[in-house]
Amino acid sequence: MADNRDRSWAEPYKIKMVEPVQMISREERERAIEEAGYNTFLLRSRDVYIDLLTDSGTSAMSDRQWAGMMMGDEAYAGSENFYHLEEAIQKYYGYEHIVPTHQGRGAEHMISQLMIDEGDFVPGNMYFTTTKLHQELAGGTFVDVIIDEAHDPENEHPFKANVDLNKLEDLIKEKGAEKIPYVSIATSVNMAGGQPISMDNLKKVRELTNKYDIPIIHDMTRVAENAYFIKQREEGYEDTPVKEIVREICSLTDGATMSAKKDALVNIGGFLALDDEELFKKAQNMVVVYEGLHTYGGMAGRDMEALAIGITESVDEDHIRARVGQVQYLGEKLIDMGVPVVRPIGSHGVFLNAKKILPHLSQDELPAQTLAAELYLDAGIRSMERGVVSAGRNPETGEHNYPDLELVRLTIPRRVYTQAHMDVVAESVEAVYQQREDITGLAFDYEPEYLRFFQSRFKKR
Ligand SMILES: *Cc1c(COP(=O)(O)O)cnc(C)c1O
Repeated sequence: MADNRDRSWAEPYKIKMVEPVQMISREERERAIEEAGYNTFLLRSRDVYIDLLTDSGTSAMSDRQWAGMMMGDEAYAGSENFYHLEEAIQKYYGYEHIVPTHQGRGAEHMISQLMIDEGDFVPGNMYFTTTKLHQELAGGTFVDVIIDEAHDPENEHPFKANVDLNKLEDLIKEKGAEKIPYVSIATSVNMAGGQPISMDNLKKVRELTNKYDIPIIHDMTRVAENAYFIKQREEGYEDTPVKEIVREICSLTDGATMSAKKDALVNIGGFLALDDEELFKKAQNMVVVYEGLHTYGGMAGRDMEALAIGITESVDEDHIRARVGQVQYLGEKLIDMGVPVVRPIGSHGVFLNAKKILPHLSQDELPAQTLAAELYLDAGIRSMERGVVSAGRNPETGEHNYPDLELVRLTIPRRVYTQAHMDVVAESVEAVYQQREDITGLAFDYEPEYLRFFQSRFKKR
């Protein structure tokens, strides 16, 4: 299939176990979303028909991964599965040392605490919610150095996750290299709509950081998806296997945090990977305080085995082509229907431009949160807000952060839904789009202190 690129893609697997899903009635959906405070995170999964809340931990594992689960070596120390995981990471990503964690934020917590001092600045190609919070909790300030095009949902730049090298160098000169513990580089940037960074740009970031002796820490949560876009769009990579592109990306950075619940096809898990031995030793010591012994870090042996296998499957050409292909399929359908979405279509989801769909709502009326609730009401499809609610408050002024992007994310789990599900989703989005002028906004009813989008409750205005 991979060598027949002009033909349609098809799922490179057959289904051998099914989990029934059903749509509850309109009245039941109305009750469910009201009880959830109009926050899709607070819905019960049984009330959801097609669940596009997130691609995190929601992927379907393969028969090989399930077989691996039966090979769990649940020894407290030195589990065989840890060594399999270490081997897979060294082979496919090329990082030298690894510390397993229960999921991505466990690794973000450690790297932030180990490297950031009070008053430091951490430049990055757009923020991510948990990444930025851990940087702030460690006393740092996140500084966005992504290119301006990333903040424009209609700009068709093929590599919207690229770093603006002038912004980065200006920051280094202004604050001093000693105030910058590392540059945080994400592949397939989630908050920009699943947009890739180019190899060329990453090489230039490497040159610049080498000049000032600043390390690069890679948020590699969706590195294979980014590599696939490089293969599709960057000159010189047309014939390079995704596997090799992934390794090359990793080789340009000094360490990585990984949420294995995304690219790596498992339901739970993550790790911190480091080339520096001294830093690794500190992380290995720290993990026993917060996660578990350094050979399991919060994962069961069976989870580490499934992850080791998931890593090998994640860089398979047929897999990645179908995975990204399914997302493109949904996105192109919505574009044909005239629905405003972030362009180009990203790697893991389609992002609806709520500002443009609901122009009559101000950002204080929470357009993306409102649109996500309306989508659920229409056909039981669960999506999530990525706008003012996710952006939180400025820790100094206490005011809302008002991001340029006010988006609803339709995130596609890997290997879970079929093309027919995508058709149903597109029809529902179109139906809501046609009633858009009658939609009224929401207001906060309850707001927790941290990562408020998860647990806030809202009421109708
Ligand atoms: C999910 C995610 C994280 C955090 O990982 P968890 O496993 O959810 O803790 C960090 N960075 C990015 C880009 C993510 O998508």
